[in-house]
Amino acid sequence: MTQSKHNVVIFLGPPGAGKGTQAERLAQDKGLVKISTGDILRDHVVRGTDLGQQVKPILDAGTLVPDEILIALIRDKLADMEHVRVIFDGFPRTTAQAQALDMLLEELGAPVSAVPLLEVPDEVLVGRIVERGRQAAARGEAVRSDDTEEVARRRQQVYREQTQPLIDYYSGRGHLYRVDGVGGLDEVYGRIQTGMK
Ligand code: ADP
Repeated sequence: MTQSKHNVVIFLGPPGAGKGTQAERLAQDKGLVKISTGDILRDHVVRGTDLGQQVKPILDAGTLVPDEILIALIRDKLADMEHVRVIFDGFPRTTAQAQALDMLLEELGAPVSAVPLLEVPDEVLVGRIVERGRQAAARGEAVRSDDTEEVARRRQQVYREQTQPLIDYYSGRGHLYRVDGVGGLDEVYGRIQTGMK
């Protein structure tokens, strides 16, 4: 297996920045697997698994699920892969998770390729999340229980305290680039692609 077969992209940015949407498009264009830890956890909640029952109150509160749980989840996901061609959306979220991911990737011989950081001003973020909840409700779709204004604000605070330190972690390793996340979906996607070259 040659290293060029691997491709590891990590999307960083606050809740509501548009990571999931942009990561999905990039995954399709580049033939990568999107790993969204929020989606995985919500799926466990919907299915009512032991893990789902354990994490539901944490998701509802907008705080972080323990690192050990996330690290074990990601370890399992990567273990099945012949080539590590992935986009992480929502992981890592703490320094401990980033360090564990580095160790896992080193074992697999798959270094981090790029870390786009989607930047959106604070005052825009909570509005986007609450609007997303409203639109889902208007379409008759399930609304995320954490897409209320109060929990969205809590998630921003958790991001600032626990995830923002990763900006220094990855810029120190030379992988990080900043992307202006305000604008249309195509516009932002174009910026992500430009930064990746
Ligand atoms: P957002 O980025 O909009 O907050 P996510 O779908 O990424 O949404 O995450 C939803 C929730 O899932 C988080 O608030 C947290 O409780 C949990 N979660 C997701 N990823 C992680 C992670 N890497 N570490 C800890 N908790 C996580």
